[in-house]
Amino acid sequence: MAEQPVTSQGTDGPITPRAQDYPQWYQDIIAAAELVDQAPVRGCWILRPNGYAIWELIQRDLDRRFKEHAVQNVYFPVLIPMSFIEREKEHVEGFSPELAVVTHGGGEKLEEPLVVRPTSETIIWSTLNRWIRSHRDLPMLLNQWCSVLRWEKRPRAFLRTAEFLWQEGHTAHASGEESRAFALKMLGVYYDFAEQVLCLAPLPGEKPAHERFPGARSTFTIEPMMQDGRALQAGTSHDFGTTLAEAFEVSYQGEDGASHPVHATSWGMSTRTIGGVLMAHGDDRGAIIPPAIAPIQVAIVPVPGRDEESTRAVEDAAALALRELTFAGYRVTLDSRPGLRPGAKYFHWERRGVPLRLEIGPRDVAAGQATAVTRHDGQKRPVPLSELQVHVEDALEAAQVALGQRVREAREAHTRTVDDRTGIESAVADGYASARWCEDTACAEDIQAQTRATIRCFPLERRDGAFVQPPDDPGDCAWCGAPATRRVIIARAY
Ligand SMILES: [Zn+2]
Repeated sequence: MAEQPVTSQGTDGPITPRAQDYPQWYQDIIAAAELVDQAPVRGCWILRPNGYAIWELIQRDLDRRFKEHAVQNVYFPVLIPMSFIEREKEHVEGFSPELAVVTHGGGEKLEEPLVVRPTSETIIWSTLNRWIRSHRDLPMLLNQWCSVLRWEKRPRAFLRTAEFLWQEGHTAHASGEESRAFALKMLGVYYDFAEQVLCLAPLPGEKPAHERFPGARSTFTIEPMMQDGRALQAGTSHDFGTTLAEAFEVSYQGEDGASHPVHATSWGMSTRTIGGVLMAHGDDRGAIIPPAIAPIQVAIVPVPGRDEESTRAVEDAAALALRELTFAGYRVTLDSRPGLRPGAKYFHWERRGVPLRLEIGPRDVAAGQATAVTRHDGQKRPVPLSELQVHVEDALEAAQVALGQRVREAREAHTRTVDDRTGIESAVADGYASARWCEDTACAEDIQAQTRATIRCFPLERRDGAFVQPPDDPGDCAWCGAPATRRVIIARAY
C-alpha cells in the first residue's frame, strides 16, 4: 500500500481559484462535488455515487450510439495469458511498462504468468479465428464495457488512473477500406457525443506515426482543450489493417473461394472524459456538469416564510414542482433538509455543478412563479409555475448549448497559427499552436524536450458527417526548417 498524493481540503473546504493553482482547483472541485474518494492503492480511486452516476449516463448514451451502428456487446475475461500479449511485437513494446502481472493463483506459482488486461485486442483476436470463417461472418462488430489496468506513475483522479472504466470496441472487416471507414465512423460517434453531450467542442484529428496506438496503422483522436490551454485526448479510434489478423492467424474465405486476411479496428472512451468535463467547464465556485450527463439536473430549494401558513404554501408548491418535473422525465431533487438555511443549500448544489436551481419562496408562490438560477452563468429569472416544464426544458437546452459555445470560443481564441520556434513556444504556453511540421520523430522529440508540448494531431475537418483532411499547406517546418506539407496541432497535454 502506498500513500495517495495529497488531495483536497474536503467536501466543505474552500476551492482554490483556477488562476492561482489550476491542478489544485481541479482536486478541490472533485472533492467539493463528492465524485471520488481515495483508494488504499496508489493510482486507484473509488467512484462515489455522484461520480459513478455521471459514468452511467455517459455509458447509456454511448451504448445507444454504438448499437445504432449494429455493434453488439460482449465480455471477455480480465486475465490474459502473457504469451498472447507477446504475439504482437509493437503491442508488447507499447504495453510492457504498464502491465500488472499475476504470477500466483490458488497458492501456487502459475505455469504461465497472466496479465490483468490493459486492453483486450490480444484475447479477442485469439478467439476470432474460431468465430470468423467466411465473408458471411463479416463485418463482426463487438464492444465491451469493462475496466482495464495500466500501471500509472503520475496518477491523477479521472485523468490518469491505474484502473479505469471504459468501453473498448473491436471490429473485423473484409477489406482495408472497410476497416478504415469504420474507424472513422467511430471517430464520428465520439466527436458527436463529445460535442453534443459533453459540450467539449472537440478537435478531431489523426495522430502522427510515433503517437499511434501500439500496432495500429492509423490512430484517430478527439482533442478538446481544457481551460488552462492543455489538450486532453478524450477518445481514440484505431485502424489496425491486418496486423492483428496476422499475429493471431485470423483469415476468411472470400466469395472467390480464396483465403484473405481480416482487417481490424479498435476504439475506446473512458472515465477520463469525466475529468475533461470537469476541467473544461468548472469555475471557481465548483463543478459545472452539462445537463445531459448531470445526475441531478434540477435542484428545488424551498425558502420558508415567516409563518406556518406561507411556509406550507411554499412546501406544497415545491412538492408539486418536484412531481411535475420528475413525471416529465427530469432528474430532480427537492432539498427539504431541515435546519439548513437556503443559502447553504444553494452553495451545496452549486458546488455539485447542478445545472438548474429553482428557488421557491413565499413571494414566488404569491406571484405564481419560481426563481430559476442557471449554474453556468449565474443568471436568475422568474419562471411561471404553470408552465414550469417548458421553461425547465428551455433552460437546460440553453445551458447545454452555451457550455459548448464557451469551450469552442476558448479553443478558437487560444489556437494560434505560427511559423517559427518563438511562435510555437508562446502558443503552447496557454493553448494550441497550429504549425507546419516535417513529420520527423526526432523533431517532435526535440519540440517536447524544449517546450513540454507534443504533436497532438493532424487536424481533420467535419463536413456533412465525414472527416476530411484540409488541403496541403506546404512550407518549412516551424521548428527545424525542413520541408513540411501539412500543419499539425502542437500542445501540452494531460
Ligand atoms: Zn521539423
